[in-house]
Amino acid sequence: MSLHIPTLLLALLGGYLLLGLQLLVARRGALRQPELGLWAWGNWAFVLGFAMLGARVVLPLWISVLVGNSFIFAGLLLYVRALQRFVECGWPVAPFWIAWMLSSSLTGLLLDSTLAWRTAWLSVAYALLLSPGIYVVMRHGWRREATLRAVGLTLALAATALCLRGWHALQVPEQYTDLMQASLGQGLTFLCSFLALMGTGFGFVLASFERAAARMESLASHDGLTGCLNRSSTDALLAHTLERGRREGSPVAFAMLDLDHFKQINDRYGHQAGDLALQLFAREVRQRLRASDVLGRLGGEEFGLLLPTTDEPGALRLLEQVRQSVAALQIKLPDGREFSMTVSAGLVVAASDSNLDAGRVYTQADKALYQAKHGGRNRVERVSPLPLPQAAD
Ligand code: GH3
Ligand code: MG
Ligand code: MG
Repeated sequence: MSLHIPTLLLALLGGYLLLGLQLLVARRGALRQPELGLWAWGNWAFVLGFAMLGARVVLPLWISVLVGNSFIFAGLLLYVRALQRFVECGWPVAPFWIAWMLSSSLTGLLLDSTLAWRTAWLSVAYALLLSPGIYVVMRHGWRREATLRAVGLTLALAATALCLRGWHALQVPEQYTDLMQASLGQGLTFLCSFLALMGTGFGFVLASFERAAARMESLASHDGLTGCLNRSSTDALLAHTLERGRREGSPVAFAMLDLDHFKQINDRYGHQAGDLALQLFAREVRQRLRASDVLGRLGGEEFGLLLPTTDEPGALRLLEQVRQSVAALQIKLPDGREFSMTVSAGLVVAASDSNLDAGRVYTQADKALYQAKHGGRNRVERVSPLPLPQAAD
């Protein structure tokens, strides 16, 4: 059995063309990530590279080898760059250029050597150029999208196949006298390496889809500015936590937090400063929470703090810490100005035997917040143990 390399070359060219078209369509749809754009460029570089390698039947050999492989080197480096950007691991661009120039120059120097030597060099060079891509996926991407792991493994497979190809070329040079020669060893290693590389392309599209889906899911349940849960998710979680507290016999504390005179901050320092204050406030509060506590943004400068399995003294202690740390926070603006803010909080604790539903918890916490505002702000109030006048009706 033997494999006909020109046929393989044509099949791979077709495969990479199809992948290029898929990437083009994906980039026009929901997947606009710049990394996918880089991968698409890498893919087109591969198409050109293969086309140039195939064109040796009409072009002088040195043009086909040099230009074709330079395109393939560029394609590999673009893949690595895309992966590196995807896992947010910032490498400078200069090493990429240096690697491309070095690989292309060395290929130029080896133009007069035998095909076996050239194949060995090119295969090892491809594998070497791929290795930083394998490294970033294994090191930084393993815990991210599950599909990215498959990309890493397929890349490793491609690199192994390439190394085998290089080794095979040196062991059995008689099978490497002409690229177009039909040889099982040459054909198999060629096919495995480039098919695996094509597979990583499809895997990368899937990883991009997985990331886009996760982002949309997060956008639907979280507030974009502060990263807190949004109102509807907080409502649902509150109802769920109250139900669980009743089942497990544990109290649930809920506090409404509202920044004091926030309108003045916007008016005095601008809306962007207000946004920054909201972000820093959310970060400050979250730092003090247990893993099971949740801060939701109910709207504007109003937040809901949900503390499962927390009694009143515990909740009051935490809220007092939050109040003090927010008041101590100095917000520095890029123009050098500084300001601080304060927060008022209204707390309600639903005992496990109470039948408070989420709606009544909100109403009670809102009343306590109203007391805090009227009591002078920058303070924590809990629902009065005695029925409030408004609560009587
Ligand atoms: P109080 O102490 O009584 O709560 O006074 P306040 O000024 O904080 O309350 P008010 O409800 O009058 O004003 C809330 C302000 O919050 C008005 C609105 O412009 C601002 N705000 C709401 N959402 C945002 C936001 O996302 N970014 C910024 N910068 N401001 C916001
Ligand atoms: Mg306010
Ligand atoms: Mg408000």
